[in-house]
Amino acid sequence: MQKTRLSIFGATGSVGRTALDLVAQHPDKFEFIALTANKNAEGLAELARKFLPKFVALADESFGPELAERLYGTSIRCIAGNSALKQVASMESDIVLVAIVGYAGLEPTMIALDHCNIMALANKEALVCAGHLIKSKAKDNNVTIIPVDSEHSAIFQIWKEGRSVEKITLTASGGPFRKWSAEQIASASPRQALAHPNWSMGPKISVDSASMMNKGLELIEAVHLFEFMPKQVDIVVHPQSIVHSLVSFHDGSVLAQLGMPDMKTPISYALGWPERLKNNVERLDLVRLARLDFHAPDEQRFPALRLARQAAQDLNRAPIILNAANEIAVDAFLAGQIAFGRITEIAAHMLEAFSNWVPPDALDEIVELDRRVRAFALQNLA
Ligand code: NDP
Repeated sequence: MQKTRLSIFGATGSVGRTALDLVAQHPDKFEFIALTANKNAEGLAELARKFLPKFVALADESFGPELAERLYGTSIRCIAGNSALKQVASMESDIVLVAIVGYAGLEPTMIALDHCNIMALANKEALVCAGHLIKSKAKDNNVTIIPVDSEHSAIFQIWKEGRSVEKITLTASGGPFRKWSAEQIASASPRQALAHPNWSMGPKISVDSASMMNKGLELIEAVHLFEFMPKQVDIVVHPQSIVHSLVSFHDGSVLAQLGMPDMKTPISYALGWPERLKNNVERLDLVRLARLDFHAPDEQRFPALRLARQAAQDLNRAPIILNAANEIAVDAFLAGQIAFGRITEIAAHMLEAFSNWVPPDALDEIVELDRRVRAFALQNLA
């Protein structure tokens, strides 16, 4: 059987490593074209020695020599620097898994859409900023985009185009501050924000989950991916994270996708599509679970939800501003420079400050708006 040629961008991260664990259980099915990371030369070299890709690439040029040294004596080609990611994104693969965190995933995503058949897209920020460009390029090139976010994977698994959908419902765990007061949330520490109750994830998405900005970004992601109106996307807090999302049809019927909160399931679905890969995910035991709870989200305590819903109404402009401001603010929060409550305040301020910016159309216009928002947000951290 011919092996599937796979590239993983962001291989050293939480999604990347989970995908590699899964692939290790199917050695006859996959071969690697490229694995990438940002700075983590040691982690990338270790993965490369195990999975033997043709190429490894680091975005940060200064770690290139260390990577080359660590892979000395192998036939794996090592490259580093911004052009290195573009180079590996231009290599032909059957599946590209984009698991880079943040806006940095946008350019490699756009390039890879010219060179793959299936894109397993974990990087939600690329869709948030340039969903219309990504969707239209995928359509032109006949690339199937399979979302890796568990909620969107759920919708993808349930929804068939052309069926009469009334609305979709994204579930949210509510994060570590689900029961906290607004005052407690405003002064939460990085350690508290990083302690997600159900999911083990990278730092940026963990902080986004704590502020519920993650769910807001997911709302925008869903609007782009499935081409629904923002008002057709509901959010419901479901602390157990067992129901990953639901689709409601015109006849009152509702279909849901369920499973244990383990990213292996949506990653497995994306890498195996249209088949299903076997995996060792803990199986769902409804009797042991006994109950599933659902609550309305609280936009007073979690204003990020309101900001994202507002941004989704101005789909080709405001999400770029929201995302850039959020990335700057989350970095500053993790570095101990600002309080947790400032994250959404900065995002709201930037949305207001750039509300008259001409909506960008092409990629270079998106890049320019992102750059301007970041620069202004940095000046307004205090
Ligand atoms: P991590 O922080 O764990 O990993 C991020 C990966 O991206 C690492 O390989 C990192 O390399 C690389 N990276 C970071 N910055 C850059 C850059 N500037 N250029 C190129 N590569 C870079 O993130 P996650 O795995 O948690 O998340 C990845 C994406 O998947 C996010 O968009 C997130 O929203 C989405 N997602 C994640 C889920 C999860 O469970 N973690 C669930 C659903 C979606 P290095 O190690 O060198 O820093």
